[in-house]
Amino acid sequence: MRILLLSPPTTSAIKAVVGTTGPPLGLAYLASMVKDGHDVRIVDSLAEDYTYEDVERVIKKYDPDVVGITSTTSMMPDAYVVAKMAKTFNEDVKMVMGGPHVTFVPERTLRECPYIDYIVRGEGELTFRELIDSLERNRDPSSIPGLSVNLRGKVKNNSPRPLIEDIDTIPVPSYDLLPMEKYQVNGVRFGTVMTSRGCPFDCAFCSSSLQFGRRWRGHSDSRVIEELRHLHEKYRIHEIEFLDDTFTLNKPRTMRIARRILEEGLDISWSASSRVDIFTEEVAAAMKKGGCHTIYFGIESGSQKILNFIGKGITPEQSISAVKKAKKQGLNVLGSFVIGFPEETKEDIRKTIKLSKKAGVDFAQFTIATPYPGTRLWDYALSKKLILTFNWRKYTTLDPVMKLKNFTAQQITKMFQRAYLSFYLRPSYLIKDLIFRKGFIFRRAIPNVIKMGKSAIGSG
Ligand code: SF4
Repeated sequence: MRILLLSPPTTSAIKAVVGTTGPPLGLAYLASMVKDGHDVRIVDSLAEDYTYEDVERVIKKYDPDVVGITSTTSMMPDAYVVAKMAKTFNEDVKMVMGGPHVTFVPERTLRECPYIDYIVRGEGELTFRELIDSLERNRDPSSIPGLSVNLRGKVKNNSPRPLIEDIDTIPVPSYDLLPMEKYQVNGVRFGTVMTSRGCPFDCAFCSSSLQFGRRWRGHSDSRVIEELRHLHEKYRIHEIEFLDDTFTLNKPRTMRIARRILEEGLDISWSASSRVDIFTEEVAAAMKKGGCHTIYFGIESGSQKILNFIGKGITPEQSISAVKKAKKQGLNVLGSFVIGFPEETKEDIRKTIKLSKKAGVDFAQFTIATPYPGTRLWDYALSKKLILTFNWRKYTTLDPVMKLKNFTAQQITKMFQRAYLSFYLRPSYLIKDLIFRKGFIFRRAIPNVIKMGKSAIGSG
């Protein structure tokens, strides 16, 4: 069969700021499961800067039997356009969707887009392979675990698919089907690797951990090294971003992998994420030695009341201490901060902005709390009737989509802008930016934040 896997054309806030996006690993994993025996192509519309017309041209030329689309929440309207386009061209094409959004709202998705035939929920590799096998053999796929089936408008949700026990059994993602030369930052090619899946924590706003479940499962050290070597040798990649929800969860393993990168002579530098409460100086030292340059911490809030509400299980003091350990070992720190939870007050937000500056992080990423489907925040917002819009395009973390007790949508957008400007327009920060980053933040990031804030105010 001819199988076309694609990410739909859309505008990306990340691409607007840093000028690039990462490879769509989910599609590359799916491709690796079915490419033996089938003709598989991947279209990464974001990396290729494809318009709908470009995608339509590809569909008409390739004439696929199956089209698989992966989509985040904010890209759903674009995914629907592509699904309709493919079905209009060939009504027999089988439309499949996967990803964290559709996993948690299959009925709503099929109601919004009747052109979709199947939804792959949760961890998709085995479900997708079984679906392709069954389509090829003209068998009824309606009992495949993890699949939701569109039965002429009625949705049949099959039983959930158990998580894959040994994730080393999943082949290395099909990087060969991706435009690897397009993923570059400042002229340096970069790749993404996921060395583990799942997160045992339960933060109210987190959608990234839901797709792969609460049980942490790691690749073996040798598989991680194999993937890194493959990216380095075949695609001349020197920069890696580890996409694990929390790379440092298993400390001995983290230190082993960092050591192996060094011992194997892999000429790569890399970044990864960690919770602040499990980060130790020993781990920081090992990571730095192994080539890590930046660690990403989910600091989230300077208000303990808000940290408790989201169930993060950390304190602001733990964040300050973790940043100190990272800085002592020479790592850059990117801190993530979220504002705009339903009961948040001006004082809570003030504490968060203050912490962003006091903690000593090199970069701060502020976002507006967004109730993604499947999260506890989604359930909370639905039950309290706080959802302002189901226009998925707004679910970017840059637009307010929840009714808040103490702020209007416009006010929270202004606070969001203020948070960015207050962090990045400090004289001490600007001087550092000018000296060490040729003014990148001032030239590129800040104007984009102002632009995004303006469009959010205009449409919120
Ligand atoms: S925010 Fe981080 S720690 Fe919390 S559930 Fe998500 S991945 Fe896990």
